Amino acid sequence: MVSSYKFIMGIDVGGTKIEGVLLALKKDPEFEIIERKRIPTLRKKGYSSVLTRITELIEGLVHQLPHKSRSLSGIGVGLPGTVDPESQLMLNGNTSLFVGQSLKYDLKKTLRNEALPILIENDANCFTLAETKMGAGLLYEKGVGIPWKEQISIGIILGTGVGGGLVHQGQIFRGRKGGGLEVGHGPLGSRLEGRPCFCGLRGCAETYLSGTALIEDFKRESHGLLPEGVDPGSFIFEQSEDKSSIFYKIVSNYKRNLSLFLVNLTNIFDPDYFVLGGGVSKQLSLYQGLEKDIIAKSFVPESSPKVYQHKLGDSAGVLGAAFLIKSLLDSNKNQAQQLL
Ligand SMILES: [Zn+2]
Repeated sequence: MVSSYKFIMGIDVGGTKIEGVLLALKKDPEFEIIERKRIPTLRKKGYSSVLTRITELIEGLVHQLPHKSRSLSGIGVGLPGTVDPESQLMLNGNTSLFVGQSLKYDLKKTLRNEALPILIENDANCFTLAETKMGAGLLYEKGVGIPWKEQISIGIILGTGVGGGLVHQGQIFRGRKGGGLEVGHGPLGSRLEGRPCFCGLRGCAETYLSGTALIEDFKRESHGLLPEGVDPGSFIFEQSEDKSSIFYKIVSNYKRNLSLFLVNLTNIFDPDYFVLGGGVSKQLSLYQGLEKDIIAKSFVPESSPKVYQHKLGDSAGVLGAAFLIKSLLDSNKNQAQQLL
């Protein structure tokens, strides 16, 4: 291994798994993946246990570097919740384990490396950054001619919950306290009579569009009929081709809700495109007619965002987390050059 490279790391912490990637920064291509690892989160064991597991994952990835974590230029960590850009604390999220915990400082302590730059970020923001820079953004650039640094992109994760991120001119939009683009808790159903959400409101988009909601809808309508050992999303979508089935009704409702949700976002942000991630986004029939439907319902008919399936697969979140450190290094370099 060439030790003159700079090494950065991304960690993506989800409700069920934690993924880590070690990258070497180069010129062309920009980086090389040295190693990646995935472990179960085992969140029921509590914060201290998960902290130990993340520390072990990091130590496992850096074991081949000459000075272990001291060889790193930094670690970016994606968490499934709202992260305050200033305090770096997770303020809310459906994986409540991390709410209010100082993961950044706790990791510095457990790694015995106080000087190591660590940046904590919302996972959907990481996903959107990576897809804009390396995935859907490049496809859009090729098709429409607008470079990724000039695009307005919105990433939506349809997973355990519903997360959102927006990248404008190559930068993540966070809002004041990191609550920008918490679109899973925007209204889709009635605020008075819609489905109750863990956040205390009713009618949140997450209660209709998360993978969890899709499975609950299915269980309710089918009285619990779901074969063992199948991927629930794939099963429901495959069966929905029969128009007389209960699956068809569930998937049609889901698609109508997704379309209305994206129309709401189009009327607020007017993005170049949406890129969908998370378990439900794997279903290809989700995309049939979706762009046309959004154009037909948008307030400004000229707003015609494209809708892409994620291009980086499961890697987007963890790569996006690592890119946070690359952006930090680039901005430090630019500042140093301005001082010269
Ligand atoms: Zn909510």
